[in-house]
Amino acid sequence: MQNRFNSSLKSPAIYPEASWWFVFAGHRLLVMVDPEKPKQATGVPRVQDIRSLGFDILREHFLGYLDGIACYAAEIAKETELADGYAAVNLRRLYGQIDDGLTRVAGRGVQIIDWDRNNQFCGRCGARTDIASDRAKVCPSCNLRAYPRLSPAVIMLIRRDDKLLLAHSNRHPAGFYSVLAGFAEPGETLEECVAREIKEEVGIEVKNITYFGSQPWPFPDSLMIGFMCDYAGGEINLEDDEIADADWYTIDNMPMMLPPSTISIAGQLIEAFIAEQKEK
Ligand SMILES: [Zn+2]
Repeated sequence: MQNRFNSSLKSPAIYPEASWWFVFAGHRLLVMVDPEKPKQATGVPRVQDIRSLGFDILREHFLGYLDGIACYAAEIAKETELADGYAAVNLRRLYGQIDDGLTRVAGRGVQIIDWDRNNQFCGRCGARTDIASDRAKVCPSCNLRAYPRLSPAVIMLIRRDDKLLLAHSNRHPAGFYSVLAGFAEPGETLEECVAREIKEEVGIEVKNITYFGSQPWPFPDSLMIGFMCDYAGGEINLEDDEIADADWYTIDNMPMMLPPSTISIAGQLIEAFIAEQKEK
């Protein structure tokens, strides 16, 4: 994927004309909508200063440049009344609806706003924090630094001959299956995490754990790291409360999939497996 975004901490001296403004009311992003079809987002506001639209801004951060255009994240009160033609929409719903570059910058923006809001006071001594020059909140009393939180999570596809393992989690809607995933623990490598999560969730051993790709997933702060691996031994054993069902599937006998698109790395892993099988 071509990198269209240049992250920058150095904000311009004055607001550039027609900057992108990623404005959040809670975790909802302010978008323009089609007045005829209010569920259809048409874009993100592009103005010099978002205050010109009448908003009271609680906090704002310069993010960098998307295709050379300045990008700001800002927060407004959750209860702010929006003019006709605007809506505050769950970011997850916007994937595939507006430009991919915009949703990705919005994902950065919501995490920066969250970090600023959630670290106004030092977690160790309770003093009010300052913003340091390197995107850290720093305590003037005890020097504790708080950076934006990133939670690494592995997501993995397990191959066994011409089959892959798919599981139904209790967190998924009824009947939907996907690949396994789980959060890394302090002190383990990502490969150890893949093996541990698979063992915990479905009771089997794997080998040939190889890196596939990664994807920021800002719900609320995951970095998904994808892996492919091969079955090495054991029988499926669902001791974990999280997984309700798991089994091996060939590509011509797949259950309903979650999520159904290649926007997510889960979808990309499954597409890659299907392509691999079709080549055989
Ligand atoms: Zn402190």
